[in-house]
Amino acid sequence: MTVAYWLDAADRIVAVNAAWDAFARANAGEAVLAGAVIGQPIRRFIADVATASIYHRLFQRARARGGPVKITFRCDSPGERRLFEMVLATTPERLVSVSVRALEVEPRAPLAVLSACAERSDEWVRMCGWCHRVDDGADRWLELEHAVESLAIFHHARPPRVTHAVCPGCLARLQAELDGLDAR
Ligand SMILES: [Zn+2]
Repeated sequence: MTVAYWLDAADRIVAVNAAWDAFARANAGEAVLAGAVIGQPIRRFIADVATASIYHRLFQRARARGGPVKITFRCDSPGERRLFEMVLATTPERLVSVSVRALEVEPRAPLAVLSACAERSDEWVRMCGWCHRVDDGADRWLELEHAVESLAIFHHARPPRVTHAVCPGCLARLQAELDGLDAR
């Protein structure tokens, strides 16, 4: 399944494919079905400022290059480790097309912290939206599965609340890719 959407020059979502709604329904995304997102700026659906800035730059690079721009990122469900690829390109109508598909899917024991409907404790963790690593509180970023086993914050009856961020490793990786694109 490839989920696709198209953006105009102002980064507004002008169209999504049929797989968009299927993916949303399968991932507790009833609030972002096609009818709710078409005509809206994509910025509205990206909570983290740094991530929104990276997306904006990726869209700009795709417009400047015309050719495909590819980025991989983690997009787990509670019971699956998933690595996704996003391919950005431009269309003859001068839209940016964004296609997202799973490269790797690996079942694992479900993680409540990734559940959309789990009741939460009053504690917070920072999770990287690109690789799912978790800040241990001292700016050391642990693999999600390792963090869930080793950090006390995950050992309570209810999982912590999650705020999304960009970890230093992903910031460097994304920056290098954007800089490389800038140089071409
Ligand atoms: Zn990361």
